Amino acid sequence: MALINEHFLKLPNNYLFADIAKKVNAFKVMHPKDKIISLGIGDVTRPLCQAVVEAMHKATDEMASIQGFHGYGPEQGYDFLREAILKNDFLPRGIHLDINEIFINDGAKSDTGNIQELIRWDNSIGVTDPIYPVYIDSNVMIGRAGVIEDGRWSNVVYIPCTAENNFVPQIPSDRHVDVIYLCYPNNPTGTVITKQELRKWVNYALKNDALIFYDAAYQAYITDTDIPHSIYEIRGARKCAIEFHSYSKTAGFTGLRCGYTVVPKDLTASTLDGERFPLNPLWNRRQCTKFNGTSYISQRAAEAIYTPEGKQQVQATIDYYMSNAHLMLTTLRAAGYEVYGGENAPYIWMRTPQGTGSWAFFEQLLYGAHVVCTPGVGFGPSGEGYVRFTAFGGREDTEEALERIVNWSNIQ
Ligand SMILES: *Cc1c(COP(=O)(O)O)cnc(C)c1O
Repeated sequence: MALINEHFLKLPNNYLFADIAKKVNAFKVMHPKDKIISLGIGDVTRPLCQAVVEAMHKATDEMASIQGFHGYGPEQGYDFLREAILKNDFLPRGIHLDINEIFINDGAKSDTGNIQELIRWDNSIGVTDPIYPVYIDSNVMIGRAGVIEDGRWSNVVYIPCTAENNFVPQIPSDRHVDVIYLCYPNNPTGTVITKQELRKWVNYALKNDALIFYDAAYQAYITDTDIPHSIYEIRGARKCAIEFHSYSKTAGFTGLRCGYTVVPKDLTASTLDGERFPLNPLWNRRQCTKFNGTSYISQRAAEAIYTPEGKQQVQATIDYYMSNAHLMLTTLRAAGYEVYGGENAPYIWMRTPQGTGSWAFFEQLLYGAHVVCTPGVGFGPSGEGYVRFTAFGGREDTEEALERIVNWSNIQ
């Protein structure tokens, strides 16, 4: 008899964005003529830049010839891209990595979800709260998260990040965590971590033999010069941290798929008997068995981001989104809202007025201003009382959405 993995049954079957879509559709059925503007889901809207498109055309033509055809590529990714990553993303920040520490992936969602295969089922995990749901859900699926009670998993340590603590995650004093997921700049709050604060986590991990899984998907949006782009800017991180990057938000690759994972060779973890093993060969083994590489065309496209033209074009799109973010911050603030993030990340995190619940405010905004946001509680218990707006919209839509929100707020 085939038995299912019952851990899947513990997952609440309401997926946040499916719930939002359901409510938006209900509104549309009742109000077919009203135009809705979505500042909800975290997908980009600007097209791929010219340098990327040209690289893809060229790669496609290569694939059409006998000499230029590429079949299965290396599971770890092509060296041309891994070298470009070392030279552009790390060397300028004084970080020296080996090419074999870089694993090209098909996006950071897969690897942030898959990485937990490397650790035993009974490790405790810690997450900043609210957080990108993939980290917890992927641990639920194999039974590591325990059971859910009142929206909290019993074997997950929630580290609250709210306006009350200035969105600075405090190291838990009451419970030990074996594995910590950090995401900076943060989705959903749009807040960042300073080197000084990140150093505390690295030191905690080194002292307690813990691992840090560091999601840097939004590092390209950092504008403040003293905010770290990589955890390896912190001394000792090579011994305790795995880092995830993605071209999805950096260069609009959400539909194209490419990113990379860094697994340093100095990073080791212990068996129950106390014998230490490096994780790099384990991850390599895992990838060789379960992953057949990102497409040659996607990797050539990613390489083009590092050319002088590519860098400039990608930056122009990031600037476009960040001027949306600036407009959102200033407009909402002027309208009396309490808003956070938006300065080094494409997300605005807004406190709902008068303690309104996240979902209640979502509906009020939908019916009152025909604008879609994301209820903060969908990202974890500490997200209650907040909503997220994304800066990934078109300029005109963003301006119109803001105007509607302001007008609607004035009549509240
Ligand atoms: C969008 C996002 C990613 C990237 O996902 P891809 O699979 O690379 O498209 C990773 N982490 C966070 C927190 C994100 O918001």
